[in-house]
Amino acid sequence: MTVARLLGIPASPGVAIGRVFPVDRRRARVPRFHIAPEQVDSEIARLDTAVKDSVEQLRAIRESLGEGEQGDILDAHRMMADDPTVVEGARQLVREELLNAEWAVRRTFREASEKLGNEGYLAERRADIDEVSDRIIHNLVGEQPTKTVMPAEDAIIVTYDLPTAEAAILLSGGKVKGLVTDFGSKTSHTAILARALEVPAVVGAGQASELCREGDLIALDGNTGEVLLSPTEEEIIRFEAARAEAKFREASLLSERDLPATTQDGRRVGIWANIEFPEEIPSVLAHGGEGVGLYRTEFLYLNREELPTEEEHFRAYASILQMMGDRPVVIRTLDLGGDKLPIGHRSHEPNPALGLRAIRFTLRHPQLFRTQIRAMWRASTRGRLRIMLPMIAAVGELREAKAQILAIRQELIREGVHVAERIPVGIMLETPAAALSADRLARECDFFSIGTNDLIQYSLAIDRANRDVAYLYRPLHLGVLRLIQSAVEGARSCGIEIAMCGEMAGDPAYALVLLALGIDVFSMNPADIPPVKRVVRSASLRDARELLEAAMSFTSVDEIERFVLTEMRRRFPQLVAEPRGREDGKTVAEAVQEVDEHAIAVPGTGTDTP
Ligand code: PEP
Ligand code: MG
Repeated sequence: MTVARLLGIPASPGVAIGRVFPVDRRRARVPRFHIAPEQVDSEIARLDTAVKDSVEQLRAIRESLGEGEQGDILDAHRMMADDPTVVEGARQLVREELLNAEWAVRRTFREASEKLGNEGYLAERRADIDEVSDRIIHNLVGEQPTKTVMPAEDAIIVTYDLPTAEAAILLSGGKVKGLVTDFGSKTSHTAILARALEVPAVVGAGQASELCREGDLIALDGNTGEVLLSPTEEEIIRFEAARAEAKFREASLLSERDLPATTQDGRRVGIWANIEFPEEIPSVLAHGGEGVGLYRTEFLYLNREELPTEEEHFRAYASILQMMGDRPVVIRTLDLGGDKLPIGHRSHEPNPALGLRAIRFTLRHPQLFRTQIRAMWRASTRGRLRIMLPMIAAVGELREAKAQILAIRQELIREGVHVAERIPVGIMLETPAAALSADRLARECDFFSIGTNDLIQYSLAIDRANRDVAYLYRPLHLGVLRLIQSAVEGARSCGIEIAMCGEMAGDPAYALVLLALGIDVFSMNPADIPPVKRVVRSASLRDARELLEAAMSFTSVDEIERFVLTEMRRRFPQLVAEPRGREDGKTVAEAVQEVDEHAIAVPGTGTDTP
């Protein structure tokens, strides 16, 4: 067996050693050719067998699941696979247009799917249709259809890519020890989720999924991005030593968790946490989080088929507020769309990151917004709740959302429900337009939080989920720093607080730059709190300002990055990592190394979706 070392993007800290659990989420490859007229009968027989096999597989999986919503989805898939109109449509294409069976299946199912349209929840049934046609095509070409089984203990998921909703299910069971993906980047939601659930992860690792088989031994280091396929005993010892060292470092940092994040010269900043699930609150408190700076409520929607009820929203919010006591809790209204879609749904928008996501989606579906806001008002007396609106790009969106929030309060008062006098309403600055007009937006809201994951995506025109452009994702780009500066100035002009809850806030390497830029609250994944707090407590604002001024005198992002990282590594050698892999601009080919004699080719650049 080939021993291979891959270098991907470190996405969630920690070392994991376990057995490969492959998860194949790629669309089926569709061979397309015309058959000879005399092949029609055998082609139709092939088609019928693949349909029958698909129905049988779905029946078997369904039986293994028992009662519940997952079973219902499988029943629906089985009926789609067996739908006489669709199957007959495919047969007709084979007979009349002499298409091979795979092509005929893809075309008939695609036509059925297009009839559902492009918008709203109904359109999302299209993802089910795609999944069913993929299954039949997989059976035709003799590939294993998508697995739906849950991983065994000690599994390390190895996959081309993992949709966020499936990651939510697979990673939250507590069985998975690690995650390796060929695709993806550090700020994709799957990576964010892995960090939240403390599952070590390496993303964008090239061809990992093609180089290993189920059950192979695999080791990964989520701090360095290193992945070893079939490691030797010495390598395992090295990984275990790294794991022990990381644990030791963590324990030493945790001893300061309850101390304030105040610089040597007296600048106090808030260190808050980002969460996806209420179950993370104990971890927030254990790591010294002083508040929740971002609760991504869309995760209430992701691992299920039906919409969460007002009661479910209420229970989640009330429990977080209660556990956080008098600490502030920022609840973000749902940010669906982009790479966050409910289980089994694929976006059918041509460009989801620029599509109907976040506040745009909510304003288009006022009923969803209403359910969520009603629950927030009901929970508003339980603690220090704040509402945050995602991806506001224009003041009109803010006004419309605020008007609805106030109208819903009146509605509850009429119903005799006890609600708070007011809830502070803030916005996320995630588009360059918002950052540049922050002075005006600040007049109409109570606080800002900069979402650098999206702000960088939109200002540098880089898809945050795309490994191939991940090396261009540079938080220290002069353009990004100037947008942050503009956002801070806007906040200051109206005296409102400005936080940052993008991943940039949780990286100790950027802490002095952000301190000098004037960020009041740093909100991050709970596990990132101790190192960032250590940097703030060891630093002086004066030194941070000098560092920023010198950094911003350079022109290229390479120069700024080199300068800041060198300075930060000099000050905090234990906390600031060497840049690695594509994060430092290397190509995948440069980053991939092999230990054995087998060469590892440069990965392809996209999916094989037809
Ligand atoms: C961001 O964009 O920086 C952010 C915090 O929001 P999300 O990652 O959920 O898009
Ligand atoms: Mg965002």
